[in-house]
Amino acid sequence: MPLFKTPDDLLQEGNDRLLRGDFPGAQRSFQSASDGFSKKGIGPGAQYARALSVVMGLSSPNPSAGDYQAVVEALLPLGELPIKLGPRTIAASQLRHEADLLREERSILASAPSTPEAHQAAGARLQALSVAYRQMGNQVLHLPELFQRGTVAASSKAPALAALAEEELGEASVVQDPKRAAEHNQNARNWWLQVGEAARAQAATERVQRYGRAVKCWFCGREVAGEGINFRQLPSDVTGFPASQEAGALAECDPQGGVVYACRPCGSAVERLADEKAQLRAKEIELRVNKMLESMRSKAGPMGQQWIPSTLPP
Ligand SMILES: [Zn+2]
Repeated sequence: MPLFKTPDDLLQEGNDRLLRGDFPGAQRSFQSASDGFSKKGIGPGAQYARALSVVMGLSSPNPSAGDYQAVVEALLPLGELPIKLGPRTIAASQLRHEADLLREERSILASAPSTPEAHQAAGARLQALSVAYRQMGNQVLHLPELFQRGTVAASSKAPALAALAEEELGEASVVQDPKRAAEHNQNARNWWLQVGEAARAQAATERVQRYGRAVKCWFCGREVAGEGINFRQLPSDVTGFPASQEAGALAECDPQGGVVYACRPCGSAVERLADEKAQLRAKEIELRVNKMLESMRSKAGPMGQQWIPSTLPP
């Protein structure tokens, strides 16, 4: 090695370090190469070396969407230029496409949708991402291969993303249309089974059953679907009570469990009424306790009073 390394030497050094798995070292070499090229003015060499150093930023244990975005932007000026990255040489545009998909994946998974609209949007993005990976076929993804040392075929990522998409679409429609939500979860179950995720498939199956279940409200007689969403069970004494016996009619109570089904408006009306009564009762008890404390304080005398609160503490 000459005493003063040229930018090209530094590029070579970076790639050697990369091959040994020394990513921080590789990043330093690529950055030095970029600085060296820059001294001769911003040119393709500096952009090339800088892009490699930014790619090394993905070696951290959990790169964020922002880290991937930085890679996308650093690769943009390189167009179709072939990039030597560890054991492989690939077109900059191809690596950029990969980084862009991984950025989208991190971005969606980091978002926490809480409204039907947000669930719908997340579902649509996951579906698009799944299709994009499927279109890449068996092409090996370079970034996971480089940093996680595993061979991941692009299309192998598609089913899990499709499953997550169906779950999001299910959440989006669960209140308005629980039967549709059940269908989405049925699809999710099939995708999870395809990738051998038995526990997630089972969870989806349970949602299918809950969302798809329809009953008749004991109180108002409305037919509703979606257990835990649009109707709930209320404990009640229905033993021996004549329930509707029409053929094909939906159940309005559990024949064994001593519960009746209440649609959301009826159920919440019962709950609020009970809550009001409970608060009123609590207030009455508080008044009685305060009266009792007052009488105890007056009997305890000046010395004993300090140990007795004047009102019931909250
Ligand atoms: Zn009702």
